[in-house]
Amino acid sequence: MAMNNRTFVIGADIGGTNTKISVVSENGEIIFKNQIPTDSRLGTARCVDRICQCVSKIIKKAEGAGISIKGIGLGVTGQVDIHSGTIVGGIKGKIPGWIGLPIGNLFRERFNLPVFVDNDGNVAALGEYIFGFKKSVNSIVALTIGTGVGSGIILDGKLFRGGGSNLSGELGHISINYLGPLCNCGNKGCLEAYVSKEAILDMFVKKMEKEASSNTIKPTNKKSSSVTPELIYKKHLEGERAATEVIYEVGRYIGYAMTVAVNTIGPQVIIIGGGIAAQFGEPIIKEIRTTVKSNAFGLAAQDVKIILTKFGPFAGVLGASTLAFNKYKGITGM
Ligand SMILES: [Zn+2]
Repeated sequence: MAMNNRTFVIGADIGGTNTKISVVSENGEIIFKNQIPTDSRLGTARCVDRICQCVSKIIKKAEGAGISIKGIGLGVTGQVDIHSGTIVGGIKGKIPGWIGLPIGNLFRERFNLPVFVDNDGNVAALGEYIFGFKKSVNSIVALTIGTGVGSGIILDGKLFRGGGSNLSGELGHISINYLGPLCNCGNKGCLEAYVSKEAILDMFVKKMEKEASSNTIKPTNKKSSSVTPELIYKKHLEGERAATEVIYEVGRYIGYAMTVAVNTIGPQVIIIGGGIAAQFGEPIIKEIRTTVKSNAFGLAAQDVKIILTKFGPFAGVLGASTLAFNKYKGITGM
């Protein structure tokens, strides 16, 4: 392999549940990859140590193949001070000790390499924009539906972090119902309070219980723990009404929030990714499209494309890698 004259970096996507680590070329090829549970219950020190060990291993593997690593890009859950690489905000208690963690410096101490850190929703948007669209559009919204709801915005060909604070662009916390359920962020009726994995599983269980009671059938002893997104999709294919309703409701809720995005930002493309999107696929995409087209203001929605990611779970590592390439500095702002 002619690896010598090309640049390679580490891209790591550190999520609330799993951490994905890859060696990525500047053209977006994933050369090596690994995934470990983030295991935040161990405490932030152990948790970061385990991730660093995994990064060390993959760097050794790359060096064994004649690849030298030039930098590290990290996408992390929470709000990030990109200058220091410190996590400064987010949902308290999501990972205990996470807010205030100087993760950039911890990696710099460990590896003698430049380290760049940004929010996981932002890096997913960068991955889609740089390696998915190859900059053929100039404004996108990328939404990641999984444990939580992440988002990133590319505006006029650059990552948009919000004015002033640089900490905005959190479309998962658009409230779609101010009387709705309490979100982990403290606001009521956020998109995340309706379509996070946990919220979707609860929605399904409640619908099944309601159906069982109206049929005077004894409710099945279903707890949230035995229900998975896979099971909901399987039941949908088998014709279970509650499952189909859940999938369409999820699409509708996302559609309401994306209507706000279309009215304010007017992206050319909205890309939906994350574990839930991968599982429910086209049915939710269709429902999002219908909801946005019928609710957006005037002609705002006529040109917007709403599509499923083609990167599966890897938009995040690809985007995290772009933080560390000089080539993409104009887009990432790093
Ligand atoms: Zn919220």
